[in-house]
Amino acid sequence: MVNDTLNRPMRDLRISVTDRCSFRCVYCMPREIYDNHEYLSRTDILTYGEIDRLARIAVELGVVKVRLTGGEPLLRRQVGTLVGSLSGIAGIDDLAMTTNALQLSKMAESLSDAGLDRVTISLDAIDDDRFRAMIDTDVSVSVVLDAIEDAVAAGLGPIKINAVVRKGWNEDQILPLAEYFRQTNHILRFIEYMDVGTTNQWKLDEVVTSAQIAQIVGSRWAIEPVDASYRGEVATRMRYSDGEGEIGFISSVSQPFCGSCTRLRLSAEGSLYTCLFAGTGTDLRGPMRAGATDADLTQIFIDVWNNRDDRYSELRGGVALPNPKVEMSYIGG
Ligand code: SAM
Ligand code: SF4
Ligand code: SF4
Repeated sequence: MVNDTLNRPMRDLRISVTDRCSFRCVYCMPREIYDNHEYLSRTDILTYGEIDRLARIAVELGVVKVRLTGGEPLLRRQVGTLVGSLSGIAGIDDLAMTTNALQLSKMAESLSDAGLDRVTISLDAIDDDRFRAMIDTDVSVSVVLDAIEDAVAAGLGPIKINAVVRKGWNEDQILPLAEYFRQTNHILRFIEYMDVGTTNQWKLDEVVTSAQIAQIVGSRWAIEPVDASYRGEVATRMRYSDGEGEIGFISSVSQPFCGSCTRLRLSAEGSLYTCLFAGTGTDLRGPMRAGATDADLTQIFIDVWNNRDDRYSELRGGVALPNPKVEMSYIGG
């Protein structure tokens, strides 16, 4: 096991398999920028064999949780093949994917058969107009809601639902989302709008804090805290006092959790990032394609993690940031 300078072990690996996406969420891939963006080419991005090799090395160093993300991971051709190979790595306790679910209904069963343990689905609104405004794409909420049920039927549940709340855009969806997912086994998690990247033009006054969200939910149904289930759990958990389910809050802005951040991120083109707010990563693709041995690559992982001192969210405002910062759609959320 390797620890960083703040004594945090490397436990989670997030693998971005593509920088492309089928949505244009206004807080992540604003259409005016991403419709004319130069995306990575097929030769830029890691092959499944390369990803598998790096994941095995990370697991040797202590990683037990792997999450496929993007961009939109379901856009990567035959992503089930990658799931199949990663699920064969002894030592991964939890193999998950974060997806916008647009293509999930038709893929859920094969992904589950390939060894995917569960999916987290992003959904920021229940009302169609609000949803379409957030994703800036002409898709109906029913597509995502159906995909949630199909994922459960395929054995990928219980499902976590990620809802980013941005003031002026969807705070009126907090109660409809809570109402829809109460009394289901799905766990709705409200995410504070974060200052990741630069293209979203983030402003602090567009953040709705977890405390404000909890107050809105609590004004309708009594809620009470639940203990964290493991060290490093990023969501603060609450349950409905009437026993009708649980909700979570990811408070990166108002209550940062850097102290327990054990996440390493691998970009689609093979760079390691130790923080969502980094400017640059450490290239693995170059050395790998130039013939680096597993021992060489292992040493790069160790050096990167040993040198890690990131705690941007805790220092927010008190530290100079790289400019530009890496984008969420590139590094993987
Ligand atoms: N496309 C997939 C999806 O949306 O589920 C996976 C990648 S997406 C970058 C991963 C997560 O990051 C999503 O749940 C999304 O809502 C979240 N996200 C993106 N930009 C964000 C921001 N500025 N603040 C908070 N969460 C953000
Ligand atoms: Fe795409 Fe996910 Fe970003 Fe939305 S949040 S634009 S679905 S990568
Ligand atoms: Fe982890 Fe960086 Fe986020 Fe802190 S700011 S929780 S170190 S990714």
